[in-house]
Amino acid sequence: MAEASRLIFPQNGAHSLLADWQDRFADSSGVLKSPRHSLTIVPVLDFEVGGEEFITMAGPCSVETEFQLMATANHVRRAGARILRGGAFKPRSSPYAFQGLGLKGLKLLAHARQECDLAIITEVMSECDVPLVAEYADILQIGTRNMENYALLEAAASSGRPILLKRGMMATIADLLRSAQCILDAGNPHIMLCERGIRTFETAMRNTFDIAAIALLKRISHLPVIADPSHAAGHRDLVPVLARTAVAAAADGLLVEVHPCPERAWSDGDQSLDFSGFEDMMADLEPWLRLREQTLYRLQNRAFEPRPMEAVG
Ligand code: PEP
Ligand code: MN
Repeated sequence: MAEASRLIFPQNGAHSLLADWQDRFADSSGVLKSPRHSLTIVPVLDFEVGGEEFITMAGPCSVETEFQLMATANHVRRAGARILRGGAFKPRSSPYAFQGLGLKGLKLLAHARQECDLAIITEVMSECDVPLVAEYADILQIGTRNMENYALLEAAASSGRPILLKRGMMATIADLLRSAQCILDAGNPHIMLCERGIRTFETAMRNTFDIAAIALLKRISHLPVIADPSHAAGHRDLVPVLARTAVAAAADGLLVEVHPCPERAWSDGDQSLDFSGFEDMMADLEPWLRLREQTLYRLQNRAFEPRPMEAVG
């Protein structure tokens, strides 16, 4: 058997990487698992992302009004979310669509944070806005359209806040890992990867949910992986089942859109769950969280036995 065809890091089976993957993602080696670094745990307030606890981030696509945000924050908190999502700066497909409340939205998020004991994740779209957004957010979200905006990645990294990096809608896994490496190189190790669906020839859904990307990222990268079933599906009826598959694939958390009245949402209403839909989704996750534990156990206990590359399908 040729040496190159063996799993590398044979001294530590739990963190082995196939040589093929090691080569393919060689320019992002800092975010790949290694014997010295197999797990990144991102501290957020008094909890962690990437540890044992499964973390749900939920809330509206856009911050609209105080009532909308506070009602949603209270509800998602009661249903088990730890982090409130909500866009104050919105990258919209149309330049004529609602672009977000800006600073007013950030202030509403800060109010919800204080009242509901939730951490805040919100998108930052421009490097100029990083200091302002970082003042209010516990996690900075880099959107799909900005995954390769390196000036923004560097500015966001320099803020010191944890970063949720969404996969570009036309980005490969290698592209995603390269952008994560840029954030790491800019001095910020607190990175979460987010699979939110990619563009394919399929148009029945808004995007194609790449569940295999979640499975692969959990094998090759030490960074936490968050699934966004809302933007992947584009339709609320599909969100719970996509969430369940992501949990079974051992995602570390979810990013889900929830709105008190999705029909009236200013953005992404079709894919937003209402309160009872969110509650049902969370309750239905229970058995899948047990499957997640099994998947994590397998990942940590030599899921991949050393074997020749030819035997790998
Ligand atoms: C969002 O989270 O509301 C959003 C705009 O996501 P994406 O960048 O994945 O489209
Ligand atoms: Mn949205």
